[in-house]
Amino acid sequence: MGSGGIFELAWANDQVIARVRDPVPNSHPTPVLPDLSGVERPELESLLHRRGHARFRARQIFNWIYRRGATRVEEMTNLPRELRATLASEFTFATPAVTSRERSTDGTEKFLLQLSDGRRIEAVFIPDTPAQTFCISTQVGCAMACAFCLTGKMGLVRNLTAGEIVAQVRVLAGALSLRDRSFNVVLMGMGEPLHNYDETMKALRILADEHGIALPPRRVTLSTVGLPPALERLAREPIMPNLAISLHAPTDDLRGALVPINRKYGIGEIIDACRRFPLKKRARITFEYVLLAGVNDRPEDARQLAKLLPGIKSKVNLIPLNPAAGIPFDRPSDGAIDRFAKTLSDLGLTVSVRKSRGRDIRAACGQLIVEGERRSPAQQLASVLSDE
Ligand code: SAH
Repeated sequence: MGSGGIFELAWANDQVIARVRDPVPNSHPTPVLPDLSGVERPELESLLHRRGHARFRARQIFNWIYRRGATRVEEMTNLPRELRATLASEFTFATPAVTSRERSTDGTEKFLLQLSDGRRIEAVFIPDTPAQTFCISTQVGCAMACAFCLTGKMGLVRNLTAGEIVAQVRVLAGALSLRDRSFNVVLMGMGEPLHNYDETMKALRILADEHGIALPPRRVTLSTVGLPPALERLAREPIMPNLAISLHAPTDDLRGALVPINRKYGIGEIIDACRRFPLKKRARITFEYVLLAGVNDRPEDARQLAKLLPGIKSKVNLIPLNPAAGIPFDRPSDGAIDRFAKTLSDLGLTVSVRKSRGRDIRAACGQLIVEGERRSPAQQLASVLSDE
């Protein structure tokens, strides 16, 4: 199944379908030339070989882009001039611009990045958890429309390309001088990674390339609403990230109200796919559960949740709601959060409660939304002219 198949998942909500299909006003046509920073190395090697260049040049190019932070072909001074000319004529080489950078009192930093078509996405740096973590986006907006998530309110604007997904890591590692350090990547920014399957997996292969960032897949976590056909496909991938499933409710009725896609793929199907999912030794599937006061936080909900998980090597990550204007739910009291966690751990589950980071700059889970995304063409032009 290609990403086209998954794309149909924007079925449930008429509004979402309309948004997905609407041409985006004033968007630029997709560039005809491929993005040099979105090409996998084997592909680049054969392309260079066909043009009469040595294959090892691809390794040099990866080194320049991913290890040395080059953003222009002219910087790649150990490449023959003729090769640089070939690259310049056959590829674009786009690096998103950082249009704002906000630092939270807890050290979390939110980066607003502008893509080559003017669209904006957010990527977040979370320091010392204990590792350094980059939380990156896979789509502009999201079609899943989860009831408690601000990004879901934007609808899906478009998929990110593999180059744009990887570029978030390039930009953050450069801006934070972390290129030579190890870090984790979580696909928990804007978007549903399995709804942009092909580009997301391509991005993970580029990130893992030993001549580039060389990010080990065990340092990557893919968080998803859980789309069973895509999970089946993921189970067969040679590069396997850690898996986190956004469950959020123990029954289909409740989950269907919170996560609309559950009306198509119910909890049973997701859990079955998880049971079949191949896990490395010591690896576990994380089940994420956003706690919403009075909605899914009763001890009875915890008991029902525990009944779903036997037979799966799992852990539960509770995420107390990060409230925001426009989200019609409240964060439970600390007492209710503790009670829920204790009920689960008394039933033998491994439980953690996610510490919310960057709330003061709206960088926490579900708080990523790009304001002004739906500005009129005139407003957009004005902002380009004033170089905001
Ligand atoms: N589409 C992916 C990534 C989403 S963001 C997914 O659904 O997993 C990562 C996590 O943040 C998800 O579990 C998501 O449900 C959760 N989240 C969304 N809005 C939130 C909010 N307002 N407060 C707390 N967590 C939220």
